[in-house]
Amino acid sequence: MVLDRMMQMLEDLYGEMVAWRRDFHRHPELSFREERTPRVIAELLHSFGVAVREQVGGRGVVGRIHGGRPGKTVALRADFDALPIQEETGVEYQSVVPGVMHACGHDAHTAVLLGVARVLSRFREHLAGDVVLIHQFAEEVAPGGAKPMIEDGCLDGVDVIYGTHLWSGFPRGRIGCRPGPIMAATDDFEILIHGRGGHGGMPHQTVDAIVLGAQIVQQLQSLVSRRVDPLKPAVVTVGSFHAGEAFNVIAGEASIKGTVRTLDAGVREQMERDMAALVHGLCEAAGAGVSFQYHRGYPVVSNHEREAQQVAETVRHVMGEDAFFVMDPLMVGEDFAYYLERVPGAFFFTGARNEELDAVYPHHHPRFNIDERAMLDAAKLLVHLTVTELAVP
Ligand code: MN
Repeated sequence: MVLDRMMQMLEDLYGEMVAWRRDFHRHPELSFREERTPRVIAELLHSFGVAVREQVGGRGVVGRIHGGRPGKTVALRADFDALPIQEETGVEYQSVVPGVMHACGHDAHTAVLLGVARVLSRFREHLAGDVVLIHQFAEEVAPGGAKPMIEDGCLDGVDVIYGTHLWSGFPRGRIGCRPGPIMAATDDFEILIHGRGGHGGMPHQTVDAIVLGAQIVQQLQSLVSRRVDPLKPAVVTVGSFHAGEAFNVIAGEASIKGTVRTLDAGVREQMERDMAALVHGLCEAAGAGVSFQYHRGYPVVSNHEREAQQVAETVRHVMGEDAFFVMDPLMVGEDFAYYLERVPGAFFFTGARNEELDAVYPHHHPRFNIDERAMLDAAKLLVHLTVTELAVP
């Protein structure tokens, strides 16, 4: 059967996938500054005989495999940017770029999708439909690379999309997914209070920015506890509050910064609206001026029912009954959200933790690493999902 031969070819390619991943790992590039990485990806795709479009939406690379017969178009996505972190793993393929590290596994995502591309292009005659390989730049920094790539047409004609994130949070061999929201919308805000400073002993002549700021911090918490539906999660975190210089001087200015995380578009709208009303209301009552800015980050990553079900079935088929679990949503963000706003699809997490290999550190940690065999798990699942969608006999 063709599928078995594809799985075998992936096994045979494992060594090369490891070599690709380690090469990307050695040469990490920051978001929106990727040059070498997209060039290497494009060269490899060319060498597999895949049609390639470069500089999609900026620095993205899109490959296209034409199947032997007409049918649906399946998109698969992998991101390829790194982070401003000094690596401390001590592995022999450690980053050679000071202060930059692949600390989120995007090097591995890229190697996985290259392996998948190689196999699917080899068996293209058996595919009923096309495969679009989306190699995305700049996932780590909003506004991200997904949006410009979509605007530049990477999803045109696409019927369904899948993507995965290798994850050190659970063991290699386990795969997590869920229908509906799986990752949060991640917004941030900034409040600048303009009161009137003065003598610490004569508050009646001032507008105290610290007292006002403290009220705002308190009241922001009551938005979550008193205004948002208790069955819908929301987080408001004030991570920064700066005001004042001296013990006996009333501060005229205060700056407050924080983040908002939600799993529901309606709650997100509500938070933005209610926060603005609350901040302006309190400041007006106190006689202070204020500037309130709410910056929208990535939207909620929300999986579609059918495709999330497809992932669950595929995992059971490829990795056995016990591999799959319905995971809780994560309150971190991903710009895969934009693809799912446009076309049906699902995003899932491929376990990559392994105590014996010291692959136990969280993502974005200087000692982050993965069990590389998780790449083979991810590649098999993506190939299997694609083949299922394109109905290969
Ligand atoms: Mn990531």
